[in-house]
Amino acid sequence: MKQERMLLLLSPFATSSLFLSLSKSLLRPYRHLLSTMSGLNFQPHAFAGNPMRAKTPKPSDPFSPNSALETLKSHLLGTTYHTISPDFKVLPFRKGRPLAGSESSNSHSSPKWHLGWLSFADCTDLFADSEVKLVEEKLVFLGSRPEENSVYWAIDVSEDEKLVDELGKKELSFVELRTLMVATDWADPRAMGELAIAGHARALLEWHGLARFCGHCGCKTVPMEAGRRMQCTDELCKKRIYPRVDPVVIMLVIDRENDRALLSRQSRFVPRMWSCLAGFIEPGESLEEAVRRETWEETGIEVGEVVYHSSQPWPVGPSSMPCQLMVGFFAYAKSLEINVDKDELEDAQWHSREDVKKALSFAEYEKAQRTAAAKVEQICKGVKQNQNLSSDFNTESGELAHMFVPGPFAIAHHLISTWAFRGAVSGSETRLKYPSSSFSNL
Ligand SMILES: [Zn+2]
Repeated sequence: MKQERMLLLLSPFATSSLFLSLSKSLLRPYRHLLSTMSGLNFQPHAFAGNPMRAKTPKPSDPFSPNSALETLKSHLLGTTYHTISPDFKVLPFRKGRPLAGSESSNSHSSPKWHLGWLSFADCTDLFADSEVKLVEEKLVFLGSRPEENSVYWAIDVSEDEKLVDELGKKELSFVELRTLMVATDWADPRAMGELAIAGHARALLEWHGLARFCGHCGCKTVPMEAGRRMQCTDELCKKRIYPRVDPVVIMLVIDRENDRALLSRQSRFVPRMWSCLAGFIEPGESLEEAVRRETWEETGIEVGEVVYHSSQPWPVGPSSMPCQLMVGFFAYAKSLEINVDKDELEDAQWHSREDVKKALSFAEYEKAQRTAAAKVEQICKGVKQNQNLSSDFNTESGELAHMFVPGPFAIAHHLISTWAFRGAVSGSETRLKYPSSSFSNL
């Protein structure tokens, strides 16, 4: 058990080649454990593993959304003046970007970004003369940490331009979530937790923006349950609206006979980057059917067996989709001839295991992450303008490689590296080897 726990702590991506290369000496005693976990992903991906998500407290608990909202209301109305308990921590967002700061612990390590949580007192000062009003409807409950006596909220402050300068004086800046994703040290559980919280908050706030009117009768909606759902204000309608998640299948198509994997390029990719196929699930379709249909439509390849790998929340897609859920599969090809749909893809090709291994080994994911972390620090200190660094990251990742795949923040990386370094197992083999508990995600 102890060994397993250590693996969980040390290996945000137990399936990644990077992880293996970074932690070889540290994990040498556990290599046998890694090898027996072939094909299974025990670790949360980027944006999963939110530390506030453990469980929802009972309504009477002071940390429950409703209790927290009642306490907040009494403070907003000014009916209580003593210190707030539990502590309120508020994360402002501007145009989908969370507030963040950055610190260098010493000159040898790369800077570490952190979320820019504000206290209730900070908020009342900051919003006193602001166009943003600190009112119940604006605040969205994110979760609580009873061990720290804290409840956490998010607020959208996009309408007030002046706040950017005010917060800049405290070396806090609104940074693109994709940029933070790239700058996150995936071996650091704290940083991965903060990224997951920011992703959850962004998805909820973006959804609030999209759900302001009832789709049934067109009347205005209001937030309920501390912003965790919306409800139509029309007395006859009262439709309840819940946060939206858009599922996407993402699959590594495998040619078992010739030991090859199918990788594809979209025209928007940076040069030399190849990845998995992906596509939206249609209404009335199973996940497996979506894998087979998308693969057929985009490449003309027929898929037989489809095996689940893991899933990843993806709150950094287009704002019309506040949170996609990437559901990852290995898909075993029944036919091998490629016929690319040029409207969907630039190219798709079979790649040998050796070529895919090279693509992973020559990519410099750790260096690119450190570069991004340094850029986030410059943004927070006001030295550099805010920018989206994910394309930079991918370019830097692939500096030395003739081809490369997306970095460890993306589920595609883990599908590809799992196959390349340990081989995907088929569903029937996996079920025989790993009964019941290994498949909690199914
Ligand atoms: Zn309605």
